[in-house]
Amino acid sequence: MSAPRGRFAAYLDNLPGTGGGEVVGADVELALAQPSLAGLPALLSPAGAPYLEVMAQQAREVTLQRFGRAVRLFAPLYVSNACLSSCTYCGFSKGLDVIRRTLSVPEVVAEAQSLVAQGFRHLLLVSGEHRIEVSADYLVACVEALREIVPSISIETQTWSDDTYSRLVESGLEGAVHYQETYDRVRYAQVHTAGWKRDYDRRLASTERAAESGVRRLGIGALLGLSLDWRADVRAVAEHAVWLQKHYWRTEVTVSLPRIKESAAGFQPLVPVTDAEYVQAMAALRLVAPEVGIVLSTREPAVLRDGLARIAVTTMSAGSSTEPGGYLQPGQAQEQFTVSDERSPAEVAAMLESAGYEPVWKDAFALR
Ligand code: SF4
Repeated sequence: MSAPRGRFAAYLDNLPGTGGGEVVGADVELALAQPSLAGLPALLSPAGAPYLEVMAQQAREVTLQRFGRAVRLFAPLYVSNACLSSCTYCGFSKGLDVIRRTLSVPEVVAEAQSLVAQGFRHLLLVSGEHRIEVSADYLVACVEALREIVPSISIETQTWSDDTYSRLVESGLEGAVHYQETYDRVRYAQVHTAGWKRDYDRRLASTERAAESGVRRLGIGALLGLSLDWRADVRAVAEHAVWLQKHYWRTEVTVSLPRIKESAAGFQPLVPVTDAEYVQAMAALRLVAPEVGIVLSTREPAVLRDGLARIAVTTMSAGSSTEPGGYLQPGQAQEQFTVSDERSPAEVAAMLESAGYEPVWKDAFALR
């Protein structure tokens, strides 16, 4: 049975199209002069490419004005790669013959302690969608066990009911990340072939459920290259982020736009998103959503990450492992994807400092 549609789904369905006309330089100049969501298609268009330097400079100024010279650092902590859903692009997909592992709660704590020892105070617990191995009780136990040593805990797991989000918040959860992956319903159905995640509306409404249950940090995003029209996905992410900010103004909203990579599932991106297009997307997003945090993972190569930290990014992962137990016992389970930036957290922090930025390990919401 499908879940009820969220309010943003209705908003998205009624969003006017881009008009279909050819975008020309004058449209881009207008969009740069008065950045707004309506002008985002022009900023993202091929006609925007010659303006990339101007756009990046303008985005840099907005980022400095709103966020200062500070970049938050966090680490993903993969607790399980067990999954009951089938997503054609993911190395954890059900049915794939890969080595699976779900960490015990003490193993999760040990991984967290190793990350805390490296400086991290914000951890993102990541898992596949497995209601039995990664149950609500298991996650609550993880959060409760971590709350004394990790000031800021977020999750990126399956979607949950309001009651479960409330329980997790009571246990100490601060943030929840739900990527829609693609906002194109047809493409979504093609790549999410079975399992809980197949329900587009349930997934899209999950961020609203989390916010209404007291989750204070909301993360959303799309996998660029999953659908043919990556620009449409960037636009939908921007609309979603601004909508969430308006409706849940007490929460903090972050977005992430990872470019999809090959995985153990053998998936190949439908369209390449070039480095220049990627920078254009990030800069455009910053201009039209100036208050939204932008997260960048280690999927991207070091040189690109270093550049984007100076333009639009406000939060970065560093030193990441994408396999359960991968910090203390690497090589014992399937990783989700191979990281590109293999620098240690200390090296990423040093890069930020040499660029005149403060690496922030503990952020404003942390209470302990
Ligand atoms: S994307 Fe998530 S739900 Fe889909 S197969 Fe991978 S871990 Fe499972």
